[in-house]
Amino acid sequence: MILKELELRSFRNYEEAKLSFEPGVNLIVGDNAQGKTNLLEAISYLGSGRSFRAQKTAEMVRFGADFGEVSGKVFSQEREQTLRFVLFSGSRPRQIWRNGAKKKTAGEIAGVLPTVLFCPEDLMVLKTGAASRRRMGDQVLCQLRPNYDAALTEYNRILDQKTRILKDHFDHPGMLDILPEYNTRLCQVGALLISYRARFYDSLGKSAAVFHGQFSGGSEEFRLEYKTVSSVKDPFATVSQLTQDLLDHLERHYRAELETAQCLTGPHKDDFDVSLSGINLKSYGSQGQTRTAAISLKLAQRELMGREWGEEPVLLLDDVLSELDPGRQDFVLNQIVSGQVFITCCEPGRFTKLGKTIEISKGTVI
Ligand code: ATP
Ligand code: MG
Repeated sequence: MILKELELRSFRNYEEAKLSFEPGVNLIVGDNAQGKTNLLEAISYLGSGRSFRAQKTAEMVRFGADFGEVSGKVFSQEREQTLRFVLFSGSRPRQIWRNGAKKKTAGEIAGVLPTVLFCPEDLMVLKTGAASRRRMGDQVLCQLRPNYDAALTEYNRILDQKTRILKDHFDHPGMLDILPEYNTRLCQVGALLISYRARFYDSLGKSAAVFHGQFSGGSEEFRLEYKTVSSVKDPFATVSQLTQDLLDHLERHYRAELETAQCLTGPHKDDFDVSLSGINLKSYGSQGQTRTAAISLKLAQRELMGREWGEEPVLLLDDVLSELDPGRQDFVLNQIVSGQVFITCCEPGRFTKLGKTIEISKGTVI
C-alpha cells in the first residue's frame, strides 16, 4: 500500500495542508510541537478510523473549527483509491468515505491503508502497564479483523453501561434487575475477543520469535504468552465454551463487583507476557533485551499485516530511530527494504539519505 497524497483541513494544528509522498522512505523533519506526530496520526487514522492518541474524535479537530477533514489518495489492491474522513467538533458522528461512497463503519475501509505505528513508548511496552500492551495488540488486530473491531467497540460500550449500573445501584437497587442481561452479553462478546486474541497472539509470538532470533544471533528463545481471565483453561476453545468460562468467573466475583462498583473480571484486563529463554522480561529483562524484544514484536506486526493483505502495510516510525543505538537502528532499517515508511525526527542527521525529506513548521509544510 502506498499513500500518494494526503490532504488535511482543520486537523490538529493543520489549517490546510496538501502533501505528496514517495513510495519508499519519507522523512518528516521539524522542531518540537510543529505537527510531526499529528501528521502520522492523520495517516494512521485515515487507514483505520482509530487514533493512537485521541480519546475522542473531536480532539483531532483544530481548536475553534466546527469540523475537520482528512483525505488521501492511496495505491492499494492494485488500483488507485481514495479515503476521506470528516470529523466534527461536537457530538455529530464522523463521516467515512471510500472512493466517493459513504460508508457506515471503519470496517468497510479495512485493508485499503493498513498502518503500523512504532513510537518510543513502544520500546518499553513490555515493562509498562497492561493497558499499553492491550492497546498495542488492539491497534493491529482491529485493522486485521473488522469483526474484532466491531466486537471491541460493542464490548467497551456494554462495559461502560455495566459500570454505570454498578455505580448507581446503591441509590437505585432496582437497576440490578437488568444486570444479568448485561453480564450475559458482556461474556458473549468477551468470548469472541478472547477467541480472536488467542489466534492473533499465537501468530504474533511465532513471527516475533523469528525476528528476535535473527537479532540476538539465536542465543535467546523468544516466547509470547497470552494471558486472559483465569477461568479460561483454553483460549482456543469454542466461543460458547469461552462464554461459559467467563460467566463462571463473573459469578464468583458478583459480590465483589457490587461492593467495589467496578467491572473486575473480563478480557478488558487481558495481557501478554514475553520471556527470553524462560526468563520473564517484565520482571527480569534488561533495557537492551526489552527494547530488542519490542522491536521484534513491531516487525512481527508489520509482517502479519503484510501476510494478511498481500502488501506491506505503511510503517510509521515516530521519533523511534533516534532513540535507538546504531546497531538497533541498522537492524530496523535493514528489515524495511520494501514498503512505504514515514519517519519523524527533530534532527535528521544520518537519516536524510534514506529518502524524501518533508519539513514541517507550525502546521505547515515548508
Ligand atoms: P515533538 O517533536 O515534540 O514530538 P511534534 O512535531 O510531533 O513534536 P505534535 O505532537 O504533532 O508535535 O503537536 C504539535 C502541536 O499541535 C502541539 O503544540 C499541540 O498543542 C497542537 N495541537 C494538538 N491538537 C490540536 C488541535 N485540536 N488544534 C490545534 N492544535 C492542536
Ligand atoms: Mg511528536
